[in-house]
Amino acid sequence: MAVCEILSVGTEILLGDILNTNTRFLSEELAKLGISVLRHTTVGDNPERLREAASTALGRSDIVIATGGLGPTADDITREICCDAFGFELVVDEEIVEDIRSYFRRKGTDMPETNLRQAYVPVGGAVFRNENGTAPGLGMKKNGKCLVILPGPPYEMAPMYKKSVVPFIKEYAGGIIASHTVRTMKIGESAMAEICADMLEKANPTVAPYAKMGEALLRVTAKADSEEAAEEMCKPVIEEIKRRLGGYVYGIDSENIEGRVVELLKKNKLSIATAESCTAGYIPKRITDVPGASSVFEYGAVTYSNAAKEKVLGVKHSTLEEFGAVSSETALEMAAGIRRISGADIGISVTGIAGPESDESGKPAGLIYVAIDAEDYSECEKVETARNDREYNRYVSASRALNLVRIYIEQKRG
Ligand code: ATP
Repeated sequence: MAVCEILSVGTEILLGDILNTNTRFLSEELAKLGISVLRHTTVGDNPERLREAASTALGRSDIVIATGGLGPTADDITREICCDAFGFELVVDEEIVEDIRSYFRRKGTDMPETNLRQAYVPVGGAVFRNENGTAPGLGMKKNGKCLVILPGPPYEMAPMYKKSVVPFIKEYAGGIIASHTVRTMKIGESAMAEICADMLEKANPTVAPYAKMGEALLRVTAKADSEEAAEEMCKPVIEEIKRRLGGYVYGIDSENIEGRVVELLKKNKLSIATAESCTAGYIPKRITDVPGASSVFEYGAVTYSNAAKEKVLGVKHSTLEEFGAVSSETALEMAAGIRRISGADIGISVTGIAGPESDESGKPAGLIYVAIDAEDYSECEKVETARNDREYNRYVSASRALNLVRIYIEQKRG
């Protein structure tokens, strides 16, 4: 199996000013090609250290992919140093000069002369056109080894990788990998892993559990000679997981709970309104992140104080007195109240303690009630995250409120 090393260049990465998302993207993509990424190296814009890092990487890996430092300024040294370390000379490519000039023409300005540096390409190497910026990517092969140099901005690097680098490094691919994620809610990672225990031991496809923001996920990865074959291998495994985990499964891959809920609401021609306390607008934000949400989202109320819960939603004073704002009784009355005043088909609510502190009565951070109210249905769920992480508690409780909608529609409406 070919071994790859990713070399990130940029002092701002070392300083923590930017997150190295290029390395994450490339690692994920290279795994899909069956190429092992064994090292991530980051160096600043320093010629000696970059030369040393590039030479070392080229000495021990079959493929080195460097990103960043292809700009027009003096501290952008990746092109010169890495090509030299691999023994490739640079010459001006007139087509690239014209590419860069026309990029600036499209922006309505002249090309600064310093940008000419970006038109230098390795003799005997490949040039990857940059459709989203000025610096082209470069590829070189020698003695079975391969060096790829890509621009730093992710919106330039990622499309260039997909369009030009994948075909360039194809000969190193060790089989094609297909990978899918089954997303579940309301079941813990270990309980989920137990139900699928025998599947976790299989070699191809592999099934691996992990947890993320209140969700338990299973990644199914198959390796085969072609994409179609790898996809075919994943299919029955995903179906078996769905069969075993039943209603806990709400989506596959990047499908999120808000997307699933909007889809179900649309399909069933239902509208929704939200009443929130501790999440304070999180749910409408997530629902309206989904394109086309306007056909299903009616109304959102943030009723943070008890007075607002009474006045706006009609929660009974006696309920708040007897059970408190953080209770199933209040959550149910909030959901019923928002449905009534909005005229929506479904009302959902959240009330709880986001943290980081407990409330005065000793109710802990992460204790949250989510509720749903519909014509023929009403349900409340107690969520206990046992965390004092405000952001996490808000995200997870918003997800669980949305999940109530999914369960209701899937069970009652189909
Ligand atoms: P430019 O031609 O725009 O100067 P470049 O190839 O010289 O691009 P850099 O100057 O190193 O790239 O980085 C430009 C910007 O790209 C950085 O400020 C940062 O926003 C982003 N960037 C660079 N490297 C990475 C990385 N590894 N992960 C995420 N973003 C990155």
